[in-house]
Amino acid sequence: MNWRESARCRGTDPELFFPIGSGTSFPTLVQSDEAKAVCARCPVSRQCLEWALDAPVEGIWGGTTETERRELRRRRA
Ligand code: SF4
Repeated sequence: MNWRESARCRGTDPELFFPIGSGTSFPTLVQSDEAKAVCARCPVSRQCLEWALDAPVEGIWGGTTETERRELRRRRA
C-alpha cells in the first residue's frame, strides 16, 4: 500500500500546506503551525518526511517547512 493512502491530510484543503508569504510573517507562521498540527497526527509522517527530503518540494511535508528540511539535509550531508 502506498503511504499516501494513509495520509492524514487526505481530504484537507491542500492550500493549508502551502503557506504564502514570508516564512517569518505572523499569518505564515500560524498557517504553518496549523498544517504541522495535522502532520503531528499523521501515521505516515516519517515516510512523508523522507520522501520530501529526497524530492525537494515546497510547502509543509512530514511536519516540516522547506527551511527545516534544508537544515535536515545539511546536517545529514
Ligand atoms: S505528514 Fe503531513 S503532509 Fe505528510 S502525509 Fe501526513 S499529513 Fe500529509
